[in-house]
Amino acid sequence: RPRPLVAGNWKMNGTRGSRGVVEAVRDGVDPALAARIDVLVCPPATLIGAFAEAVAGSAVRIGGQDVHPAASGAHTGCVSAEMLADCGASHVIVGHSERRADQHETDAEIRDKALAARRAGLIAIICVGETRAEREAGHTLSVVSSQLAGSLPDGAAAADTVIAYEPVWAIGTGLTPTPADVAEVHALIRRELVAKLGEEGRGVRILYGGSVKPGNAAELMAVENVDGALVGGASLKAEDFLGIAAAY
Ligand code: 13P
Repeated sequence: RPRPLVAGNWKMNGTRGSRGVVEAVRDGVDPALAARIDVLVCPPATLIGAFAEAVAGSAVRIGGQDVHPAASGAHTGCVSAEMLADCGASHVIVGHSERRADQHETDAEIRDKALAARRAGLIAIICVGETRAEREAGHTLSVVSSQLAGSLPDGAAAADTVIAYEPVWAIGTGLTPTPADVAEVHALIRRELVAKLGEEGRGVRILYGGSVKPGNAAELMAVENVDGALVGGASLKAEDFLGIAAAY
C-alpha cells in the first residue's frame, strides 16, 4: 500500500498572521506520525515562502494550489512551477474543481500543468470528481474516467503524481459519499492508473477529498485504495488537521 499523504488545501484563506497554524501543524507531526504518513500544507501563493521557512527541517511539506504551464514569460498574474519550487514548495494541486469551474480549466490544460510540475521537480496532485448532477444521472464513473484520461500525463510516476478524487457535491457541504461509493471510484482510478502506467500505477497515491473531518477521517481512510486525504476547511485549524492525520 502506498505511503499515505494528508494534504491541506487552504484555498483563498490565510495571511502572514496565519503562520502560527502551520507552526502548530509542524509541531504536531511527531516522529511517530511522520514515520507513517506525509503531511502537506498548500497555502495561497503569497504564503508559500514564509510557510516553507516555518517548516524547514521538519517532516511537513508545502505546496501550491495552481501553476502556469510555462516556466516564465508574459503571463501577468501567473506563477510557474519553477517559482513554486524556488519558494520551497514540493507539491502543487492542479485541476481543482473550483478552478475547473471558475477558471474553466480543461483536462488538457491540467495535463500541461502536471507536466510543468514534473519539469520543476514538483509532485502534481491532479484533482478529479463529478458534480451532483453528474452523480444523479449515473455518470460518476464515466466523468472521473474521462477527466483522468485527459489530465494524467503520459509517463506519470508514483514519485511525481498523486490523484485526488473530490466529488464536487461533497466539497464544503458536510456531505460525503458512502465508503462503498468511495471504494468504487478509487478502484476505478486504480484500474485506470495500472492500465496506463503498468505496475507503477499501483504506487500512485489516490486521495479522497470533500468534507473530511476528524470525525469521519478514520472511516474514509480505511477504504481500499484511499491513500490519504485532501482537506479543505478542516485544514485551516491545526487541531482538526492533525486530528485527521492521526486517523493513520
Ligand atoms: P472541504 O474539506 O472544505 O470540503 O474541501 C475539500 C477540498 O476541496 C480540498 O481540496
